[in-house]
Amino acid sequence: MQSVNSFDLVIFGGTGDLAMRKLLPALYYRHCAGQLPEDGRIIAAGRGAMDREGYLGFLDEKSRRHLRQAEFNESQWRAFSERIDYVKVDASNADDFRVLAERLGHDEQRVRAFYLSTSPDFFAEICQQLHAVDLVTPKARVVLEKPLGRDLASSSSINEAVGAVFAEHQIYRIDHYLGKEPVQNLMALRFGNALFEPLWNSNRIRDVQITVAEQIGVEERGEFYERTGALRDMVQNHIVQLLCIVAMEPPISIDPDIVRDEKLKVLRALRPFTPEDVVSRTVRGQYRAGAVNGQPVVGYLQEQGIDPSSHTETYVAIKAEIGTWRWASVPFYLRTGKRLQERVTEVVVNFRPVPHSIFPSASRASTPNRLVIRLQPDEGMELHLLAKEPGDQMNLKPVHLNLDFSESFKTRQLEAYERLLMDVLRGNLTLFVRRDELDAAWRWVEPIMAAWQKSGEPPKTYTSGTWGPAAASALINRDARSWPEEG
Ligand code: NAP
Repeated sequence: MQSVNSFDLVIFGGTGDLAMRKLLPALYYRHCAGQLPEDGRIIAAGRGAMDREGYLGFLDEKSRRHLRQAEFNESQWRAFSERIDYVKVDASNADDFRVLAERLGHDEQRVRAFYLSTSPDFFAEICQQLHAVDLVTPKARVVLEKPLGRDLASSSSINEAVGAVFAEHQIYRIDHYLGKEPVQNLMALRFGNALFEPLWNSNRIRDVQITVAEQIGVEERGEFYERTGALRDMVQNHIVQLLCIVAMEPPISIDPDIVRDEKLKVLRALRPFTPEDVVSRTVRGQYRAGAVNGQPVVGYLQEQGIDPSSHTETYVAIKAEIGTWRWASVPFYLRTGKRLQERVTEVVVNFRPVPHSIFPSASRASTPNRLVIRLQPDEGMELHLLAKEPGDQMNLKPVHLNLDFSESFKTRQLEAYERLLMDVLRGNLTLFVRRDELDAAWRWVEPIMAAWQKSGEPPKTYTSGTWGPAAASALINRDARSWPEEG
């Protein structure tokens, strides 16, 4: 466990949902692990005029229940609370920032991390205010939560404003998927072993499928979702980042900019979409009423805050192609949706079958070898192989090799935010998204958004509780392939 130097972590949006459900619990776990230094301080900022005691009561009520019961310890929780302070800060109020600056003091040697867990509408203002009260010291850094804009122009304008105050090496753009253990394990598997690299190309890999499937609908976030849709919410950031980790060339070192350079090359090699490609290589869908886990649910258009004639997509499937020697002719099928049959996030790498099968029982499996990297609901990694079934016949059956080694290491898996928050405090940018990556991702998805808008066609409908529109099966079946649940 790498130690962390003295720090002040200021969480703007310290009363919000993300802070309560993820950030404070992650910090508590790291406190319990003994990773936080004695003088590591956490300062929550919100608009409410609360004192410290008031905030600790709020935390007790709203955050404690999100901790894993088995890991809760009353005296540790009290000791953790000692680190926490609260300051009332409204993004538009300069006086509030003066109070914050006084509370923090002017120790230039101290690591200061400003976590912006508010709507991005406030990012520019908060950064300017921090600058105005001299809080942007060389050791300061800022953490930006997604979504960063809704297109390249709005994302650029946020980045320009933040970049006017913080240098790029001080900006930590979170994509929490990158903090997940299996994603880092995929890097370890690919670049720590000589075994996979010779197989990692179009000669041996038939296709890659990335699925982010949710069972939930838009819940209380109807208005937000209506402006966003699945392409911006999931594809432009999380799915594209996963694709980069699968497809990147071996970097020459683990240095953050070297790794991010390699991811950027993948983004630049993604084949751009013409309007015709958007018709043939993408599917957008919207859920109708149905049942999820046996419970009836309403359709998207009946959800609160949704325009009844909305064309916002709650489902996307894309056939992506990467124009490099390594990946020529290997399709990357990407899909995400709400109100689907199961909750699952996974990357499936399908290897080509043997060129000539001598076992009749094996011929049914079109892709006997696949590597599955699962991020939800459980984290793990599996390698699927064919093996001989014990007995007097040469019968081959699929078996799964479990490549999840947390058991072997006898240690608990860190949650993504634990890892990422410690990286912020230690100054390690490897798992954060650089501005040019973000811009390249927007450039790739923008023609899709434009073509959908221009077409005026409504999304394809699908019944809640299914795997999405029939057109998404057709998209992959046309290439004589199928989604994992289709066998
Ligand atoms: P939230 O529950 O609505 O909380 C918003 C926070 O922003 C509150 O603490 C609020 O303070 C603060 N705030 C609002 N207006 C402010 C202002 N003028 N000046 C200073 N602070 C202000 O939102 P959230 O769900 O925590 O999400 C925060 C950000 O993270 C959003 O951009 C969201 O898209 C992103 N995000 C959230 C999640 C998640 O799971 N929740 C996941 C990924 C990304 P008050 O208490 O004073 O209102």
